[in-house]
Amino acid sequence: MAVRTGAEFIENLRTAPRDVQVHGERLRSGIADHPAFRSLVRSYARLYDLQHEPALRDIMTYPSPTSGEPVGVSFLMPQTREDLEKRSRMIKVWADHSFGMLGRTADYLNAAVMAMAGAADWFAAADRRFGENIRKYYEYIRENDLLLTHTLINPQANRSQGPSGQADPYLAARIVRETDRGIVIRGARMLATLGPIADEIMVFPSTLLKARPEDAPYSYAFAIPCDTPGLRFICRESFDYGRGTFDHPLGSRFDENDAVVIFDDVEVPYERCFMIGHPELCNALYSETTAVVHMTHQVVVKNIAKTEFILGLVSLLTDAIQIERFQHVQEKIAEVIIALEFLRSALRRAEVDAAPNRWGVMTPAWPPLNAARNWYPKIYPRFVEIIKQLGASGLMQIPTEADVFGDARDDVERYMQAATLGGVERVKLFRLAWDVAISAFGNRQALYEYFFFGDPVRMAGALVNSYDRKPYMERVREFLAGDGW
Ligand SMILES: Cc1cc2nc3c(=O)[nH]c(=O)nc-3n(C[C@H](O)[C@H](O)[C@H](O)COP(=O)(O)OP(=O)(O)OC[C@H]3O[C@@H](n4cnc5c(N)ncnc54)[C@H](O)[C@@H]3O)c2cc1C
Repeated sequence: MAVRTGAEFIENLRTAPRDVQVHGERLRSGIADHPAFRSLVRSYARLYDLQHEPALRDIMTYPSPTSGEPVGVSFLMPQTREDLEKRSRMIKVWADHSFGMLGRTADYLNAAVMAMAGAADWFAAADRRFGENIRKYYEYIRENDLLLTHTLINPQANRSQGPSGQADPYLAARIVRETDRGIVIRGARMLATLGPIADEIMVFPSTLLKARPEDAPYSYAFAIPCDTPGLRFICRESFDYGRGTFDHPLGSRFDENDAVVIFDDVEVPYERCFMIGHPELCNALYSETTAVVHMTHQVVVKNIAKTEFILGLVSLLTDAIQIERFQHVQEKIAEVIIALEFLRSALRRAEVDAAPNRWGVMTPAWPPLNAARNWYPKIYPRFVEIIKQLGASGLMQIPTEADVFGDARDDVERYMQAATLGGVERVKLFRLAWDVAISAFGNRQALYEYFFFGDPVRMAGALVNSYDRKPYMERVREFLAGDGW
């Protein structure tokens, strides 16, 4: 099968009813048209349609190595630096479509599965079947153009203990038993963004596991369809309040719901298992397969799109009320420009210094990407702060559509005008800034950017522990010793 259209994506969702709890309702079907998901589903459908636009076809697709049909470039297993650049061009098209507000476009996890399939021999070292399974799974999602979510984190009950130390041993999802067909999973995982509308869910390790017998049941990696019997999603409140694009320009389009994932004795067939047991391998899965590098490559391109959007927004806002000539305002705009240029530099260096990994998959250089993924959680909240500091009370002077186009229209045009914009246009712009910096949608974005790739505190620890600082320590030591100075 070739790349899907938006209509095919929606049709798939309709024919694969899943168990979703939202706003007091337990849905088994009708997800695609439910108010909590309808707009997001349409936004995702548009991404699939982009793959069919004649002007974009060469950027978005390549011929499948098995069928020859056009498949998505996010599945392309890069052999050359040009392949990597091709991947980032495709990622940018999708990211630009939502200004980077959609964090879970299919390319994010396609990158992970592509890298894992490239490293199939690593899985095979644990069990020959696991290598074969990940290879076949990659082909399956590529040929069917599927949308994946993932869930990694155990429920946040007692973080001073691992999954086996919780008061309830079935709180964190674990293997209950093995059958002749597969493993049976019971318990919960903390979150799966997009879970209710994805085709498939990857249930992979993330939290560091200890190699003790009691931790073995929590040690696994598998992927199953979101309509698998016994799998349930409990959603947070939707931030698409159904009030349309004028009032909630971003929330009404791009709210990716986050859901708790519950496994009521879910049977996972062996052919969908990529690891069972082997906690030490589970802990190293993302780094050893270089999945983390390819995922970060996608994230950095997405964050470039997001930062370009923030720069455009801040520039329009400061121009509208003519504050751009004040020095502290320029300093703040400069912060966004500098962030954008550093992200672009990190991406460029990662692609130019790319090298084949040990399985021959061309892999971006990790240090610049690692630096960028450690930095963005700090810089995105700063963008939000800048918008608040520059927008000031203008971020509250934003009546709703009903008033702007109703009785208050004349007042809006007269009293809410900006130096360069009429009243209605100004309200529209400032509502957009509000949806980035103030609304529930905007706050969720800031929390997402801070945490989605893991706890920044522990990511910083991993960076420090893995970064080779010895040459610099040696240089300072030499200086202190006074040799040759
Ligand atoms: C909007 C959003 C979407 C997300 N989407 C997904 C998703 O789709 N799939 C998925 O799997 N995950 C998802 N996540 C989860 C994300 O991976 C986690 O938020 C992140 O790994 C941090 O874990 P936690 O939230 O459990 O925080 P916790 O681990 O509970 O941390 C809470 C606080 O305690 C501190 N702390 C806890 N333990 C330690 C420790 N050992 N050492 C130092 N400090 C510690 C942390 O620094 C933090 O300040 C999402 C998160 C957000 C916010």
